[in-house]
Amino acid sequence: MLKGKTALITGSTSGIGRGIAEAFARAGAHVVLNGFGPPDEIERLRADLEGASGGRAAYDGADLSRADEVRRMMATALAQFDSIDILVNNAGIQHVAPVEDFPVEKWNAILAINLSSAFHTIAAALPGMKQKRWGRVVNVASAHALVASPFKSAYVAAKHGIAGLTKTVALEAAEQGVTVNAICPGYVWTPLVERQIPDTAKARGISEREVIDNVLLHAQPTKAFVSVEQVAALALFLASDSAASITGAILPIDGGWTAQ
Ligand code: NAD
Repeated sequence: MLKGKTALITGSTSGIGRGIAEAFARAGAHVVLNGFGPPDEIERLRADLEGASGGRAAYDGADLSRADEVRRMMATALAQFDSIDILVNNAGIQHVAPVEDFPVEKWNAILAINLSSAFHTIAAALPGMKQKRWGRVVNVASAHALVASPFKSAYVAAKHGIAGLTKTVALEAAEQGVTVNAICPGYVWTPLVERQIPDTAKARGISEREVIDNVLLHAQPTKAFVSVEQVAALALFLASDSAASITGAILPIDGGWTAQ
């Protein structure tokens, strides 16, 4: 389905981004991976994806908190693959604390990685997509692009911001065959969620088990985590030709959370 297309997925060494990279490679796309992790594990993933796709797989370890690194990653990928047909802005971090105690450096890092990096990747990839009159931008936002939760001020602000960026760029690129959408997952069991449980327990004064049952799954009427595979399948659909008329959409995949 994606044979001959190149997909760059930020934050694809773990969790949702990795699942999307695997799904795109299985669909035949060349993939560019990005994210942190042990070099030998990343190389194994890269080689596996190259085997699965029948195309090429590359890895760029750019630190997306730095604008110059993001721009350099994009220039390198464009030089290596001629075009980036599918851009998935997925990298993200979280920090949980009351706003009055929220560390400034965490605020700045969350805004840079979860929001500004997408501005830089889009600005670099869009001209080539417009020229080819085909392109797909999929921003992995969050249910927190639509609703808030306490103690996540930076994350909620960044995710609401990416919803606005998504709609704006969708309008700018609509006549050139480029779609721009945001996926808004509810809670997906990944390292990002696992890591925030102790801090949420502390901020709310409850046990870690209570965080899972009464905070995370409480938000989701299905009382079940969303799976990485489900999010990847939605991203794959948005990258397909069948999704050509879906643009500027902020799409929940959240077990009913934002219906409440
Ligand atoms: P994860 O921690 O498993 O993966 C995050 C990825 O981003 C990793 O590959 C990591 O190396 C990369 N990354 C982090 N900082 C980076 C930086 N400075 N430069 C480059 N790469 C960096 O997290 P995940 O749960 O898979 O989250 C992926 C995306 O999905 C995030 O944008 C997150 O906000 C969003 N999301 C997650 C959930 C969830 O419940 N897990 C829900 C809604 C939205």
